[in-house]
Amino acid sequence: MDDSSNKSDRKLRTASQLVHGGGMRSEFGETSEAIFLTSGYVYPDAETAQARLAGDEPGFVYSRYANPTVKMLEDRLSIIEGAAACRATASGMAAIHAALVAPVKSGDRVVAARALFGSCTWILDNLLPRYGVEVEFVDGYDLEGWKRALSRPVKSVLIETPSNPLLDAVDISAVADLTHAAGGELIVDNVFATPILQRPLELGADWVTYSCTKHMDGQGRVLGGAILGKDAEAMEEVFAGYLKHTGPAISPFNAWTILKGLETLALRVDKMCDNARIVADFLAAQPSVRAVRYPGRKDHPHFDIHSRQMSSGGSLISFSIEGGKDAAFRVLNSLELVSISNNLGDAKSLICHPATTTHRTLTDEQRAMIGLDQSWVRLSVGLEDAADVCDDLERALSTLR
Ligand SMILES: *Cc1c(COP(=O)(O)O)cnc(C)c1O
Repeated sequence: MDDSSNKSDRKLRTASQLVHGGGMRSEFGETSEAIFLTSGYVYPDAETAQARLAGDEPGFVYSRYANPTVKMLEDRLSIIEGAAACRATASGMAAIHAALVAPVKSGDRVVAARALFGSCTWILDNLLPRYGVEVEFVDGYDLEGWKRALSRPVKSVLIETPSNPLLDAVDISAVADLTHAAGGELIVDNVFATPILQRPLELGADWVTYSCTKHMDGQGRVLGGAILGKDAEAMEEVFAGYLKHTGPAISPFNAWTILKGLETLALRVDKMCDNARIVADFLAAQPSVRAVRYPGRKDHPHFDIHSRQMSSGGSLISFSIEGGKDAAFRVLNSLELVSISNNLGDAKSLICHPATTTHRTLTDEQRAMIGLDQSWVRLSVGLEDAADVCDDLERALSTLR
């Protein structure tokens, strides 16, 4: 294998790294990255097998540990994120699960922002406390709350920004400083922003997690996840063994699909952001829309932080519909172009009603604490002509009059 990313020391820019970063060519000289759809590897002799498994000789031994196609994905993600190390996983949740569980032991403390992807809240609420880990939630926007929570020692802090489902902001550098002062490490779930719009490691985060299922695949095909960090030794010590022995390995086919998705990531994210801006402004002018939350609009309550740490408003919009759940359901059911789905970051525009789907497992009280009532819908703007998306929304909203 020839590591084509190492041809010279030239530092390529992100758009070029998305196409070339981490690429390896086999002796056949293929243009497109190869899919090594193999679970195992053969050795020329027993001595080599012994040396490989002992780690005394480089090389692949089993695809639960590492695989050439998966390695290309990990290397490309590391390069675009500016990370020292990356491990790809079978899904975004596998990455976050590892990020939360692998470092902690009974008696440790974890602090998290309250507004998170539903399954992250589930792990923090249900899993960690069972193993004797104390978990505390904080309003992600409230720096005083972070100061209070991080006045005691902490092992890990988890934030998501922009967050699910109301696109709240968390000040990454301020929370990173407070986390480090409390002796902990900051994990940022950067799915909504993508590495194109926001760079948590540069803002002080220690770990970044992705659901590659979202914008990175971007065409609704496969699941995948990744955990990236600045410290290659810590990745080895804390996560490599954990991932190897617990087995959330990504399929080489899925890794390949995501690799190909990365080639067009910047183009797609830029176009989605342009579209989302148009759709957000359109929604804000609709009489039956009570409020619009788009990180790129000045009327977003956390616009100051979003505009400091994100280079654009992103592809997601949340909006509140006059008339609560019934009206929200009527609008969703009247859409023809935009599909009802809890996925996001797709080429197709997708809409969901978080209170009854992605955030249904939260108690009423938990939902109230993140400001999520039944009137909110979350729209992931895709790659269609923005005018068609606006027409579809206008037609659906007109059913309320
Ligand atoms: C989708 C998502 C996840 C989980 O990723 P999967 O690939 O579905 O496991 C985690 N965090 C955020 C913000 C997400 O949008």
